[in-house]
Amino acid sequence: MTHATFAELGVSEVIVRELAAREITQPFAIQRMVVPDILAGRDVLAKSPTGSGKTLAFGVPLIERLGAGDARPSALVLAPTRELAAQIVEELRSLAHARALSIAAVYGGAGIVKQAARAARAHILVATPGRLLDLIERRDVSLAQVRLLVLDEADRMLDMGFRPVVERIIKMTASERQTLLFSATLDGEVGRLAKAYTHDARRHEHADTPQRAGRTEHRFVTVSGEAKVAHLVGELNNPDRGRTLVFVRTKRGADRLVKKLAASDVDAVAMHGDKSQAQREKALARFDSGVVDTLVATDVAARGIDVAGITHVINFDIPATGEDYVHRVGRTARAGASGVGVTLVNHDQRGELLAIAGRLGLDRELKLGGITAEAGRSSRQRSAPARSQTGPRRPSRNGASRSKRARAASS
Ligand code: ADP
Ligand code: MG
Repeated sequence: MTHATFAELGVSEVIVRELAAREITQPFAIQRMVVPDILAGRDVLAKSPTGSGKTLAFGVPLIERLGAGDARPSALVLAPTRELAAQIVEELRSLAHARALSIAAVYGGAGIVKQAARAARAHILVATPGRLLDLIERRDVSLAQVRLLVLDEADRMLDMGFRPVVERIIKMTASERQTLLFSATLDGEVGRLAKAYTHDARRHEHADTPQRAGRTEHRFVTVSGEAKVAHLVGELNNPDRGRTLVFVRTKRGADRLVKKLAASDVDAVAMHGDKSQAQREKALARFDSGVVDTLVATDVAARGIDVAGITHVINFDIPATGEDYVHRVGRTARAGASGVGVTLVNHDQRGELLAIAGRLGLDRELKLGGITAEAGRSSRQRSAPARSQTGPRRPSRNGASRSKRARAASS
């Protein structure tokens, strides 16, 4: 197993067992990132896409940090909508009960009296801001002892105009509290909110890994020089592939690669900023209609392309940033389809690639491609060819890693 388990992240045995009963055994990337910090009592700002497992990311350590003897409430989770609040309570209830904690939802559109009674007895409140303020004003609950505060979907809460209410609520919680903020963005207004109400927060960003959408298999292949073109030709001759987008860094690189492919009988078109509008349209039309099923593009040129049915994205040149990786490979596996992202890495680029893709939750795939911290180091200070230091080498085209599908759950 390449990733830490929940136990290794510091989660207690009861909770590990409770999670396992729900077949949750491998922490998702955002969970690996934030759980240790939250358990350590740190404030955390986390940016992570929908479906990446944020509820357990804050819920599990929050529950770990409370005890049955603590004040009611000691923890507050603010969420923008009633549905979300209900969902969070659903997801966390059995975990809370496993540690003898009670949890209650507070949201509008339901009877306030019953809700207030339950809220008054709960260690953990999961609330929408408006209704919570009502309960506070009715003196049904007090937040004075709340020492753990979570703002879930903070960006949406602000978009919905909850800022003043949220701020009023925050100010009623204990000043010596731990604050966790989860959001799709940490910029702008969310950033200002975070700055005002967190202290020395750890910031974690989980790029929008495209494998959540459909199933994307990520493969990394260490291969240099002309072998790179040969490997690409091999990939493109794979009968299983459909439309393929090949990424290169430069415009000249795109043209050169199309020529090299032609020499190997692979028909491809190039798309980049130096082409005239007419040329670009023509290239795209040929790709779109399926006349040519390989498009070689630079990052900028690819931005405007929205073609369905791309099965493979091949990074002939490695992307410059993690975001670029996500944008590139995100062109495949759209709308629930599955896709393959292949990244060809020169031996001496392994350290660089690790720095770029190391945060994307693809550790296992990187390792399968021989891209490890050791390989990265040895390639940076290398004298001898790094390939002698990477242990067993994978054949350049292989079935082994192809069958081991990179699943969202492993990232
Ligand atoms: P987010 O809040 O980031 O949109 P959720 O917290 O709602 O995502 O999680 C999405 C789904 O993934 C939920 O059904 C949740 O139970 C499930 N899930 C979360 N963490 C894991 C995990 N480590 N292993 C398997 N499933 C998980
Ligand atoms: Mg969520």
